[in-house]
Amino acid sequence: MVQKINPTSNYYELLGVSVKATTAEIKDAYRRLALELHPDVNADPDDHERFRLVADAYRVLLDPQMRKKYDTMRLLSFGWPITRLRDTVANPVAFNQLMNKVGTMLAVASGIVRKPVGEPGRDMTLGTTLSFWESFQGVERRFEYKREIDCADCKGSGFAKVAVCEICHGAGRLRSDFMPMVGKRCPRCAAKGWIGVENCATCSGTGRVEDYHGVMVKIPAGVQHAGRVRLSKQGEGGRHGGKDGDLVINVTVLLDGLATRQGNDLIMPVDVDIRTAALGGVAAAEFPHGRLKFRVPEASWNHRRLRVPGRGFRDPKTGQTGDFFAVLSIAIPDALPSDDRELARQYLHAVKGPEDAPAGLFRDELVKRFAT
Ligand SMILES: [Zn+2]
Ligand SMILES: [Zn+2]
Repeated sequence: MVQKINPTSNYYELLGVSVKATTAEIKDAYRRLALELHPDVNADPDDHERFRLVADAYRVLLDPQMRKKYDTMRLLSFGWPITRLRDTVANPVAFNQLMNKVGTMLAVASGIVRKPVGEPGRDMTLGTTLSFWESFQGVERRFEYKREIDCADCKGSGFAKVAVCEICHGAGRLRSDFMPMVGKRCPRCAAKGWIGVENCATCSGTGRVEDYHGVMVKIPAGVQHAGRVRLSKQGEGGRHGGKDGDLVINVTVLLDGLATRQGNDLIMPVDVDIRTAALGGVAAAEFPHGRLKFRVPEASWNHRRLRVPGRGFRDPKTGQTGDFFAVLSIAIPDALPSDDRELARQYLHAVKGPEDAPAGLFRDELVKRFAT
């Protein structure tokens, strides 16, 4: 059943009640008029039409939700009689002027333009490349990118001007005899309760605009190659108040010429002189972020792995830290006298692991030669 707005008066005037009338007063008024105008008791065709309009008015004003919408529409028309609003609606230019005055915001605030159900924005993916040592220490990086968001000028509706649907009066649904409580979807406005009158110029009616967005991202220490950093709500904007998507950053970590990572352990060769390796002492690993000193036991062999607990990669998920393994690289300096170099060579040849007894053979001689 298509409802028409009374062409001569508003619903309150039709029923002869005030705009503040209670439900009981509206019911009383309707009963009185129905007795007077009902086609069964009244033969005047004008009264038949009036009875139809009175029935319309009664139906709208009795339903608190419909009444609220109707009231809002009346207010939107600045107290003009409904006829004048109707004429205005029929005249697009005048109507636009009217809606300009009223504004979409008022329509939204007053509940005529119902907020559509929000739709979440999609996640967006960007990539970034870190050096080995940046991944060890963590890094802050700025990302600038384009993302799609709801047009602020039209709140994502795509329309600069909207009108209350003249078919359902903003209810979005039409009552029918079959479904008196629910009604069917209004075909004119697709159950929105309003219709667009003029496209938004900012977004050309799409409801969406491109947003040039920048964000500082903390990429945590210990991030793995092919790891991901997720930033909540920095992706594509949600539609109509839906949740914004996330920004996902795929991390590539470059290899280092010397150091490697195994799990959360950091492994790196460290140069040690022959004296320190043979007699014990202190060596230092040189990292881009500083040096790390560690003890070298006596009688160490080439490529011996020495563990420094808790100085490896920090696991960004668990917060635990791996170990540092120094792989001794024992150098024989060219500057040594040839006898000494020969002795060093013999040492390295003889001492290849923990099972090799070092001291007996070389210690005294090494001490004598190198312990200066
Ligand atoms: Zn409608
Ligand atoms: Zn827009």
